[in-house]
Amino acid sequence: MNDTHNSQLSKFYKRSLQERRDVIQTWVGSGRSVGEVLDGNLRVEQADSMVENAVGIYSLPLGIATNFLINQRDYLVPMVIEEPSVIAAASHAAKLFREGGGFHTSSDAPVMIGQIQVLDVPDLIGAVQRLDTVKAMLIAKANEVSGSILKRGGGVIDLEIRVFEDTEVGPMVIVHLLMDTRDAMGANAINTAVEYIAPDVAEISGGRTHLRILSNLTDRRKAKAWGIVPASALETENKDGYAVIKAIVEASVFAEVDPYRAATHNKGVMNGIDAVVMATGNDWRAVEAGAHAFAARRGAYTSLSTFRQNEAGDLYAEIELPLAVGIVGGATRVHPVAQLALDILGVTSAQELAEVIVAVGLAQNFAAVKALAGEGIQKGHMRMHARQIAMAAGATVEMVPLIVDTLIRENNIRLERATALVKQLNETEQDKR
Ligand code: NDP
Repeated sequence: MNDTHNSQLSKFYKRSLQERRDVIQTWVGSGRSVGEVLDGNLRVEQADSMVENAVGIYSLPLGIATNFLINQRDYLVPMVIEEPSVIAAASHAAKLFREGGGFHTSSDAPVMIGQIQVLDVPDLIGAVQRLDTVKAMLIAKANEVSGSILKRGGGVIDLEIRVFEDTEVGPMVIVHLLMDTRDAMGANAINTAVEYIAPDVAEISGGRTHLRILSNLTDRRKAKAWGIVPASALETENKDGYAVIKAIVEASVFAEVDPYRAATHNKGVMNGIDAVVMATGNDWRAVEAGAHAFAARRGAYTSLSTFRQNEAGDLYAEIELPLAVGIVGGATRVHPVAQLALDILGVTSAQELAEVIVAVGLAQNFAAVKALAGEGIQKGHMRMHARQIAMAAGATVEMVPLIVDTLIRENNIRLERATALVKQLNETEQDKR
């Protein structure tokens, strides 16, 4: 636990890479060598046992977001992402929420839904009645394969029956098995359970079972975060805090009513969420699928978060989405950097991880909306964008700052110009020799 730690690491971004690693080493304690894990990373032999036809490792940057205060506890947040500005934006947003007391979170129990599709049912009403009557037996049977999850206080907790009376392939009964998968994401666990009871479901319903698989719309496993940013913290040179809040609320409502805006608004949420999901070795496709399906749950796609002015005049922000993530299973325990990421977070349950992740999603979203409702995002992005262009043009580490300054000064952040500057600097270097 990191209860004694303070995640407000002043000027963390200005420290050298080694200094930052030293800070993280102190944060996680001496159990694991941060440098060794990060330099050793995932080995190709490990990759070979993770996926088929492996030939190598694909690396991405891992950074640390600072300033997070969630339920009065400080967190440093590891984020894996290729996009510039995301980690800085999350850290900045967390600082502003901190001024309003930090993030508050809650979450549902980690309940996954497994689906069994039943076709060719001769008597729909009778089948539903019979399945409902033997519900307890089916739950008990599914729990025979719940393994250690049951011993840990989880397991199958309920069974629900849904009916699609008229589909292109005839009537369909869908059995939902609800399983508390404790600290696992739980895809394998729930898939095992639905496959196991499917023959019984077929026999009892008189139908033919077809698909048996989890649903990624894990809406029994939602996580929620909310927080306040005081108006005083939002003041800019040209606007008072209330005007900034008004602009943010207008942007929020735009995303609530327009799916075209909502998609981009939610992409901003997922910038933060996916980065932590990836850092911790979790399945980001599963989280993405769940988030967007949830955003469309009322029939029209809408935003996952809302921003409003509260009675005190400050900004109140809130977000809720399904978050099926684990701290055991999948790649979480296989990938050495994922293990380190979990150490840095210091989370002790899947629910706590989901709550941290949802808070990061809100922070990220707030940062983007605030920038868009203010000066626009390009200004902040320009420097990082110029860095990427400089590197893409083949600039050495020493050349990058010079080229970035020139590209920004000339307001010409283009690969062609960066390539010319690299060439020029190389020639100057050669002339000196
Ligand atoms: P695992 O099967 O790897 O891990 C879960 C298992 O870990 C449990 O069944 C249990 O097994 C064991 N375990 C040990 N400690 C705990 C604990 N504290 N709480 C819970 N379980 C514990 O993975 P998941 O079931 O979590 O599945 C995740 C993987 O499935 C991911 O890799 C995902 O990509 C993949 N997947 C995703 C799909 C999707 O999203 N549509 C589809 C299919 C797979 P035991 O009883 O043996 O101890």
